Amino acid sequence: MSKYIKTTPLTQIERIAIVQGGGRSLAQVRQAEGCGLICNAGFYGFGTGKPTHHLKADGKVLAKEPWSCWGFAWDGGSDISMEALPSDRKNYIGAYELLSPMVGINDALSYGAELGGSRGRTAMALAGDKLILYCSGDGTRDAATLEEVQEELRRLGAETAVYVDGGGSSQCDFGGGETIRSSRKVYSYLCVWLKPQKEDKPMSKKVCLDPGHGPGCVNGSPDGSYKEHEFAWDMSQRVRAHLERCGVAVVMTRDGTGYPSLTERCGVSNKAGVDLFVSLHSNASGDGKSWTSPSGYLIYTSAGPETAARNVAARAVLKRVREAGIAVRGGGLEHNAEYTVLARTTAPAMIIEHGFHTSREDTALLKTGDYRAKLAEADARGVLDFLGLPWVAETPAGGTDTPAADWAAEAWQKARDKGVMDGKRPADGITRQELAVVLDRLGMLD
Ligand SMILES: [Zn+2]
Repeated sequence: MSKYIKTTPLTQIERIAIVQGGGRSLAQVRQAEGCGLICNAGFYGFGTGKPTHHLKADGKVLAKEPWSCWGFAWDGGSDISMEALPSDRKNYIGAYELLSPMVGINDALSYGAELGGSRGRTAMALAGDKLILYCSGDGTRDAATLEEVQEELRRLGAETAVYVDGGGSSQCDFGGGETIRSSRKVYSYLCVWLKPQKEDKPMSKKVCLDPGHGPGCVNGSPDGSYKEHEFAWDMSQRVRAHLERCGVAVVMTRDGTGYPSLTERCGVSNKAGVDLFVSLHSNASGDGKSWTSPSGYLIYTSAGPETAARNVAARAVLKRVREAGIAVRGGGLEHNAEYTVLARTTAPAMIIEHGFHTSREDTALLKTGDYRAKLAEADARGVLDFLGLPWVAETPAGGTDTPAADWAAEAWQKARDKGVMDGKRPADGITRQELAVVLDRLGMLD
């Protein structure tokens, strides 16, 4: 994920502060301050490192301009509101107005080239009695123009909003793995401390999912039709949905675009203090450049004994996998203490190799949505068994995933498997433009 939007009721806010970075990374500031939410906030001269626009932190004016503007001001935090700046409040930030008494949704935004184009964006907004923090990663598919950010915030109900810098400065950590990383150490960060929440549920279990590898990794089938990193990402989204639906908090080691190191992945898991670490992969044999015979589902943990939590967890998953009729390789569980993510995670950890992408037969299965669904459900059920949590059935969303009629079932399945159609709304009509897309996917228009 490369964009996070955090909406927080003002009544839940303990304090908001502008914290000067002083050469520290976002992670260092978050750790030092112990705040729940943090993002970059405040323009500064890239060459000078000095803040620009209007900025005041804890009674101290950090940046002042001859002109005035609308921005967010507060004394404690939950009293935050849009005001004309500079003002007498203890804290304020004036940046680029997206929605203010001077800038409405229908007004054309005017800005220089340095603010233009699609880029990472960090913004603050107020929607009624809620604070919205918006952060997207630079150079990602969620990079956006200022107009797009303005429109998105307005759709979320924002009445007032300011863009507080972006591009390579965009970064945040909103907790629960909602993190946009940047190596840039910005001049100032916005820190938000939340009031302790009363637990309305028993302490939920936490699982770290680690989609193996990342974009650019060449691991895949010899014929090039399957990439392991894409499979791993897709599986993580499937398993995550099951676990979250069943009340498990899921922490991710990477988003769809990132490629963290193995050590970084362990760091994410260790910092989150999870109950289980699960790394999602597919296997390879030989030199990976030609089809070979080894096949089947296999789990690695670091070492015995069988009674260790990691092996109890692995056995729980294997039980569900066998019940689902998935072919398992040998005994299904092997040990290897050399794997970084097994050796350097503090939680019980396993690597699941969902099959061999160097096996022609396994690859054919691994490429289909149905087999992935089967794998994801078995993985998730096993994890839930280990955590002692019940499986919660999926509720069909508004009839969008109803099955096709019997007479159409086979053709419908083929259309889904081959990616000709998306497998949704089987009984709906098709528009002329949808027909054109289907024909194109069948190669009939080339
Ligand atoms: Zn792998």
